[in-house]
Amino acid sequence: MSIQIKMMTLGMFSTNSYVITDSESKQAVLIDPVDDAPTLYRAVQESGCTLALVLATHAHFDHVMASKALKELTGAPFYIHADAVPMLEMLPVQGRVFGLGLLPEAAKPDRLLTSVSETLTVGAIRLETRHTPGHADGHLAFYMPDQRVVFAGDTLFAGSIGRTDLIGGDYDLLMHSIQTQLLTLDDDVKVLAGHMGITTIGIERQTNPFLAGI
Ligand SMILES: [Zn+2]
Ligand SMILES: [Zn+2]
Repeated sequence: MSIQIKMMTLGMFSTNSYVITDSESKQAVLIDPVDDAPTLYRAVQESGCTLALVLATHAHFDHVMASKALKELTGAPFYIHADAVPMLEMLPVQGRVFGLGLLPEAAKPDRLLTSVSETLTVGAIRLETRHTPGHADGHLAFYMPDQRVVFAGDTLFAGSIGRTDLIGGDYDLLMHSIQTQLLTLDDDVKVLAGHMGITTIGIERQTNPFLAGI
């Protein structure tokens, strides 16, 4: 298989960024430009691929902080859900809640994704968008049917779920998103989330205490 996925955990909230590379087309997709654009860029360069697309699962600052710097380094287009734009534009002041100073501006999105699922294709990399609001407005998960992997952002974690006490948070909506967009995937599908380690849909279905009621 020519497709590889590299996980990098960066920033003060230990947020996961993922670089997906296709060694045949020599193109890469990056999910969540979390922090430290030079480190993300280096990881792409080391793979020998060109960054063709940057996607964000949502616009919380720890997931998009490097978006503008990464775009300046690579010129790769940046896509995010339309509903996430107000929060994206608030990036410089988002850190206030956490006692942080002014943060950098976010990249301007080159395309706004919608709530209707679509398949984004870069070389042999196929990513299906799944609208999963509840943790934040305009949250998207990205499912790779060929690799049986879902990038879940901050919806579903190993043994936990995304918090819903921040702006745009809605517990019932999050549970609905998990139930209809993630738990509908097969048990063997790997979950690569915005924080913490790798799990599977099956493990979470069986053991995640937050999913016990559904
Ligand atoms: Zn978040
Ligand atoms: Zn997060």
